[in-house]
Amino acid sequence: MIPFAIGVDLGGTNLRVAAVDTNGKILEKMTLGTEVTRGRDRVIHEMCSVIQGLAIKYRSSTGHLAGIGIGVPGIIEMQTGMVRESPNLPGWQDYPVRQDIEQRLGTNVVLENDANAAALGEKWLGAASNVDDMCMITLGTVVRGGIVLQGRIWHGMTGMAGELGHITADPNGPPCGCGNQGCLEQFASATAVKRMAVEAMAMGKAPELARAMDEDPEFSSKVVYQMAVQGDEPAREIFATVGKALGAVIADLVNIFNLPMYVIGGGVSLAWEAFAPALLQEVRKNSFVYRATAPVQATQGVQGTPIHDDALPARRSTIITRALLGSDAGLLGAARLPMIARDVKLPEQELRRA
Ligand SMILES: [Zn+2]
Repeated sequence: MIPFAIGVDLGGTNLRVAAVDTNGKILEKMTLGTEVTRGRDRVIHEMCSVIQGLAIKYRSSTGHLAGIGIGVPGIIEMQTGMVRESPNLPGWQDYPVRQDIEQRLGTNVVLENDANAAALGEKWLGAASNVDDMCMITLGTVVRGGIVLQGRIWHGMTGMAGELGHITADPNGPPCGCGNQGCLEQFASATAVKRMAVEAMAMGKAPELARAMDEDPEFSSKVVYQMAVQGDEPAREIFATVGKALGAVIADLVNIFNLPMYVIGGGVSLAWEAFAPALLQEVRKNSFVYRATAPVQATQGVQGTPIHDDALPARRSTIITRALLGSDAGLLGAARLPMIARDVKLPEQELRRA
């Protein structure tokens, strides 16, 4: 009998719940529309009934329930389990979410920022499974981040650490919703890719992109990527800008942390080939720590997958690579939360009993 946990990835449009065993095998995965417009209580009620259903089903067939982890798209105050800010979940702000869920389920749950959960998922079963320390940057409609040190999420003082999307990539860049100017998010999010395409069109610099936009009412960053792959120069320049901004920020992270791995995930990371050369070039230019630790292959340009060179065990390299788990990263990471929380709690409980 292998213990299992239940992970929840609460997105703005989807609520996904999975039963995952402690080896990382997904036993069952369910996707529900979140329908945030129907209100917070309704969403929490639906989430709890799905959790209860899965818990009962697999408790009898698989083994004991190791716990419940929930990834929430917002800033979580770890001590209180309150959601402090969540633009995607109106009405959840300053609400004791963890306490409410624990009361409904009659058991402890671990609440976590969903970007942190995604980083933990990639650390557990994805691109970073061979390292203890890593950070992940998720490029979606916004840019998020998570830092994992010694296999655990690094929370900072209150749980707000790792907001890597709001590190300044260019102090003269566009204003950001956070109040800063030139944040990474303003260059490397799907929203930013589309904005840069519209700006290039407005200046008359991107005739092919303008044609694509006329033809496609749902013109998005994906179309810009397809055009870049086809060799359209303005589209290629946009992704070079994405790569340069990512490179500037990752160079800082390399200089600060000297971690073995930096993982790029999220929808925009599918355009890896289009932005990775500029990214690696910028990191190499800006970070002497990277230059001293870059894998040999990275000097030749694009670096796709982690490099594990068994012939050179003494050589420790800085790997910058793309995520492997796609949208399951957050779900698997959420399921992992109670498993590692339990590792910590057990000795404490033993101590208290003694
Ligand atoms: Zn910002």
